[in-house]
Amino acid sequence: MTENKIVKCPICQFEKTENLLDLNCGSLCDSVFSHSVKIEACLKCGHIYNGLSSVEIAGLAKYYNKESAPLNLGATDKSGDRPGSDSPFALQRYSQLYSLISCYIHNDFKVLDVGCAAGSFLDYLHKQGLNKLYGIDIVEDYVNYAKKKNDNIKLGNAELIPFNDNSFDLLIADQVLEHLADPIQAFREAKRVLNANGLLCIGIPDALRYSETHFFDFYWFLIKEHIQHFDIEHLKLLASLEGFELVTYGKSDAPIMSEKMILPNMNIIFRLTNKTCGLTISDSCFKLKKEIEKYIIYNHEKLKIKRKILSDLAATQKPLYAWGIGREFLLLFETAGLKKCNLVGLIDSNPYKQETYIIDGKKLLTKIF
Ligand SMILES: [Zn+2]
Repeated sequence: MTENKIVKCPICQFEKTENLLDLNCGSLCDSVFSHSVKIEACLKCGHIYNGLSSVEIAGLAKYYNKESAPLNLGATDKSGDRPGSDSPFALQRYSQLYSLISCYIHNDFKVLDVGCAAGSFLDYLHKQGLNKLYGIDIVEDYVNYAKKKNDNIKLGNAELIPFNDNSFDLLIADQVLEHLADPIQAFREAKRVLNANGLLCIGIPDALRYSETHFFDFYWFLIKEHIQHFDIEHLKLLASLEGFELVTYGKSDAPIMSEKMILPNMNIIFRLTNKTCGLTISDSCFKLKKEIEKYIIYNHEKLKIKRKILSDLAATQKPLYAWGIGREFLLLFETAGLKKCNLVGLIDSNPYKQETYIIDGKKLLTKIF
């Protein structure tokens, strides 16, 4: 069955795109996401987004509940980037976000954290003196966990917020918008549940700065659940279409899993004005496409080097073990020739992966011997 590709721009709804990348980065057999990641550029507004199939879009809630959450909860490294955690790196990001919003809010504000996960940003706000704190998340396990600390946590998501109209003074969506298939709907829901002049605070990776990070090849596209690649221009465009105006924003470098692994982050505050503007596309909207094209060329070059190394290894048929079976492994396996090597064992410490992953007929090992 051929799946219908959804190519309509999530911001301006234009239907024509230029495909910038179609990368087979592998997939586990029963994953919601298909093998290939398709990066599209809207020909009208220059927004960059993943061309997902309707099956992938329909499966997003299942992905977060059945794939992403068990994987994160099974991770043995507790200092990682588990959503909503209170790791030192997450706390550093919360403090960057709070320092931007603190002068626009007061302790009486009623706050909703959309995508609160384990709820640690709400705990952080509580320590700053705020008490009217609510949260929603799409993952049932996170909601159950966060509920132990705060009764005001519900199952829900940014595109369908389970609260009445005009309920909040401030909405937080930290590391959320890049995950949404329909960011317009998220802004509409924010508009509905916010009070007049309410604030919407967004934390999000800055796609304009992907090239500044030196992670694994195509890192920002291997995260298949990041389906929108925003810069500030496209966020402003979307916000102005939906009746929000920019109050302030800041770019920051937020550590993810170590001091060296830096998220090129943006924190932005919008205010609900209900004054909508027509679509005004400036030249600066097309800077993002140029930067993403540079990122893609650079990463193709890096991958080419790995292909050569793996091709030499495949020729020797020396026995190989692979440690750490994740997105990076899958890309090398599918696209860079690791599949042709003499892989005798796959090792990972995550019990969830050990129980569920079968790659090329092999189950994962906890250790070699
Ligand atoms: Zn567009």
